[in-house]
Amino acid sequence: MANVKKNKSASKKRPLKASVKAKAAKPGKTRGGTLGPTNPKRVSAILQKLDEAYPDATCELKHANPFQLLISTILSAQCTDVRVNQVTETLYKKYPNPQAFAYANPAELEQEIRPTGFFRNKTKSLMGASKAVVEKFGGEVPRSMQEILSLPGVARKTGNVVLGTAFGIAAGVVVDTHVQRLSNRLELTKNQDPKKVEQDLMNVIPKDRWIKFSHQLIWHGRRVCIARKPKCSICNLEPLCNSKDKTV
Ligand code: SF4
Repeated sequence: MANVKKNKSASKKRPLKASVKAKAAKPGKTRGGTLGPTNPKRVSAILQKLDEAYPDATCELKHANPFQLLISTILSAQCTDVRVNQVTETLYKKYPNPQAFAYANPAELEQEIRPTGFFRNKTKSLMGASKAVVEKFGGEVPRSMQEILSLPGVARKTGNVVLGTAFGIAAGVVVDTHVQRLSNRLELTKNQDPKKVEQDLMNVIPKDRWIKFSHQLIWHGRRVCIARKPKCSICNLEPLCNSKDKTV
């Protein structure tokens, strides 16, 4: 009886093990290969392709100092960098420092930034953030995420842009609309919420690549992996991409 019992339990266990193994392997498979979407080797291959395509990717908002980058990034919400650069070309001549923005005439400033959209809210954010820079941080943009998030109108995306580009501080990954879309297409996240996307990316991208990776993904999203009809036929990431949005 003892033997029979042993055999029974052994035969019951075998298919269970197989099914567990199959379940675990499923998310690790890609259609075109054997590496899971967030396998370090696949991630490394993606980073290499991005380096080949965009070795000099950087922030496209024109700025002469960290404070101007803060202002430009606030203005860039729901607006193109090209439009922001057009507006700031004259804006920074009239408002050359944080004090000038902090104590501006709000009605005048509203009209000056109007082309960037949402100008009333942006004026409040620009003036509020500038006032905090002047009154709480001695006229200097703070260099930590916690402090920069204390500025009115500043969320993690702006914080990451300023800390990463102006100071070279990798506090997180910039998640804008391009990074959000491409991270999903490249299966580096399954989330849509920017905070969750950022957390997923921080888990799979090496920290010393966070700053450059954000810029490269934004450049790729603007030039090739565009929202409506990605240009997959000219995309060097195509062999690594299994997106349902692919056009080839
Ligand atoms: S293959 Fe197409 S969908 Fe995939 S990353 Fe390239 S452009 Fe985007």
